[in-house]
Amino acid sequence: MQDYKMEKIQMVDLKGQYLKIKDEVDAAIQHCIDNTAFINGPQVDEFRNGLSAYLNVKHVIPCANGTDALQIALMALSLQPGDEVIVPSFTYVATTEVIALLGLVPVMVDVDPNTFNITAELVETGITAKTKAIVPVHLFGQSANMEEIMELAAKFNLYVIEDNAQAIGSTYTFKDGRTAKTGTIGHIGTTSFFPSKNLGCYGDGGAICTNDDELGAKIKMMANHGQVKKYVHKYIGVNSRLDTLQAGILSVKLKHLDQYSDARGAAATYYDKGLAQIQGIQIPVRNPQSTHVFHQYTLLIKDGRRDELKKFLESKEVPAMIYYPIPLNHQEAFKNISKVIGNLDASTTLCQSVLSLPIHTEMQESVQDYIISVIKEFYAS
Ligand SMILES: *Cc1c(COP(=O)(O)O)cnc(C)c1O
Repeated sequence: MQDYKMEKIQMVDLKGQYLKIKDEVDAAIQHCIDNTAFINGPQVDEFRNGLSAYLNVKHVIPCANGTDALQIALMALSLQPGDEVIVPSFTYVATTEVIALLGLVPVMVDVDPNTFNITAELVETGITAKTKAIVPVHLFGQSANMEEIMELAAKFNLYVIEDNAQAIGSTYTFKDGRTAKTGTIGHIGTTSFFPSKNLGCYGDGGAICTNDDELGAKIKMMANHGQVKKYVHKYIGVNSRLDTLQAGILSVKLKHLDQYSDARGAAATYYDKGLAQIQGIQIPVRNPQSTHVFHQYTLLIKDGRRDELKKFLESKEVPAMIYYPIPLNHQEAFKNISKVIGNLDASTTLCQSVLSLPIHTEMQESVQDYIISVIKEFYAS
């Protein structure tokens, strides 16, 4: 039993996680099959309500994936072609792609080289008369400085859509001590339930949330063919649904989310202790305003040795990933349709020096000890 643990080290251990909740998950799946309500079955509402209570947000609209969530959020803002939307240049392509798809202009600003997130100061450098929205990405599991970003947005009358695909469960603390879950601070928040995300289902899934009643109603319509009621269409929308099966699985996993975040946090702290003393490495820098749910544990490898270290780790059966190797402003797809603010030096440097180590909810200290020892061996040679 549990032989998989002796197998090779993985970036994410979905099998180990599943085995611990197998009975609950299997029952939820069987229940859904017994009901045969595969589309918009009762489990979808159940999950919607559960997530809304967990996040403490008024409206949750489940959808097919995190990319759709971003697109639908933008569609609900009634923007005009040519309107500008500010995004970080150091993020996953989905954030920016949907902006371009809607005929809007992605305006790429640099990120803070320590937290990897955009800041209000950097966003401000990209604001013009055409700017309509900002999409902060809570990269790798901790919040961008939302209080400052919301203040800036209010000043320039901009919408804020939080791309919370990597940070679900993370908590942001305002200067007055008030707290809020990431994804519920901006006008709209979006997330993804891709299997390897912190709240992952067993296929594709996503959700959009908002505290604004008007936006909530419009988002709901946009995700369902722009439909006000059956066969009455007010907007050009899309068909984007969360499968009932996935909703059933997600309700089970949602109950464990805080414990999953704690497990990831503990693994990160253990890595920190083992790696902090190494000269050539910068361990993750935490934003004091946010908890960190460590979707990724990402090191900065100095002295141009990142690729060399990655190879060395792989030669010792330790996987390591580069999120992300190319800044979005250097992607061919975005060449003639995006605006780039400044030189984006930090993003470029990050792409050359970031390295993410295995981290997940089933991390064992013995495995981490091994990974740390391999890294120490690399630096000793
Ligand atoms: C995963 C991810 C998405 C897209 O989610 P999908 O469910 O794969 O469409 C969007 N933004 C960020 C930052 C992500 O990490």
